[in-house]
Amino acid sequence: MRAFLLLAIAALAACAPQPVISPSQMAATPAPLTSEQQLLEDVRILSADNMEGRLVGSPGGSRARSYILGRLNEIGLAPALGASLEHPFQFNRQADTLTGVNLLAMIPGTGRSNRALLVMAHYDHVGVQNGKVFNGADDNASGVAALLQIAASMKSRAPLHDVIFAIVDGEEGGLRGARAMVADPAFKPLLDRTVLAVNFDMISRSDKNELYAAGAYHFTWLKPRLDAIAADAKVTLKQGHDSPLPKDQDWSTQSDHGAFHQLKRPWVYFGVEDHPDYHKPTDDFGAIPQDFFLRSAATVELATRAFDRDLEAIAQEAGR
Ligand SMILES: [Zn+2]
Repeated sequence: MRAFLLLAIAALAACAPQPVISPSQMAATPAPLTSEQQLLEDVRILSADNMEGRLVGSPGGSRARSYILGRLNEIGLAPALGASLEHPFQFNRQADTLTGVNLLAMIPGTGRSNRALLVMAHYDHVGVQNGKVFNGADDNASGVAALLQIAASMKSRAPLHDVIFAIVDGEEGGLRGARAMVADPAFKPLLDRTVLAVNFDMISRSDKNELYAAGAYHFTWLKPRLDAIAADAKVTLKQGHDSPLPKDQDWSTQSDHGAFHQLKRPWVYFGVEDHPDYHKPTDDFGAIPQDFFLRSAATVELATRAFDRDLEAIAQEAGR
């Protein structure tokens, strides 16, 4: 493309007295990113040192939120609740009262159902500790980037049901944003329409090419659906980490879906097993195996599309 443009400019220059495109103008109009390039770019930016580890209630957290808001506006998502994408909540840390901010957007479905699917990922991480920035590339810039990829995809090819996108704050240290969201009376009508909450938290790293889907132990109707998704998945999609058996390492309340679990509302969680960089300053963009991450993000998109298509049957089986 660039070679063609240069030839075209040379041809124009040969027959016209003035240059029509300067090199600086060419540089100002880069080609749009592919969805895969955008996915990686979102993680790279959200896990850069200048985000200072995205601690809830911190300037770095606010910088990350501004970036995500810009992306939501660029994709063209409408607020899910009221006139704003931003939904602040208060919490206490030691003697201080701090503010976190959830972001709630929606893409309307093309069908007639009032039922909705909720897709969720937390954008906060653990900040700076002892002078070291905890970048949280896998945890959870990866989940936010996948959510944005799905939002962009659904904006161009609309879902059947309304899809609520919840990019929540304050997950680290207590699922604060997700808990505030489900407890908010203003959110109740959306909560009641939500048939299934799909949570992404840490989906970019696995030496074994494995992504887990947790939830079917509690919601048995998930199992055949996850089996079908696994058959088409571009990674090894395993099920587990959702039962109280001692060896299972139960994740049922370990991320934002825990707020739904405590209300006995259906959820499914996608994530990888812990790795050596988990909650370390070395959870960096450069440590992400890009090939696995692209396939993992494609898998959660496939799953989200499948849940949307099947949501009426899911609602019947889940009694919602
Ligand atoms: Zn996390």
